[in-house]
Amino acid sequence: MSKEVQIACPKCEWKPDGGEYWQCTCGHVWDTFKTAAKCPQCKKQWNYTQCIAWRGGCNQQSPHIDWYRNLDEILEEELTSVAETAPASGPKKQCA
Ligand SMILES: [Zn+2]
Ligand SMILES: [Zn+2]
Repeated sequence: MSKEVQIACPKCEWKPDGGEYWQCTCGHVWDTFKTAAKCPQCKKQWNYTQCIAWRGGCNQQSPHIDWYRNLDEILEEELTSVAETAPASGPKKQCA
């Protein structure tokens, strides 16, 4: 393990410091990077993550996946294996 996944805002390079800065629409406040942007209370999956302006960030929203660095290879491997094992796309035909 030489590569470490790093987390930083893709727009301004602000790095989350492990604080609980994100609030869900259900009112829960948590560290979104601990759960891959999924609210631990209501299980809502967030696709976008906002940069925290009052902690030095740019306040812009970016796709959650874009915050991760060094993730591409891991992701690529996963996507490749999925592509190899998955049959042709499309819904299965069902006999009426
Ligand atoms: Zn929630
Ligand atoms: Zn930012």
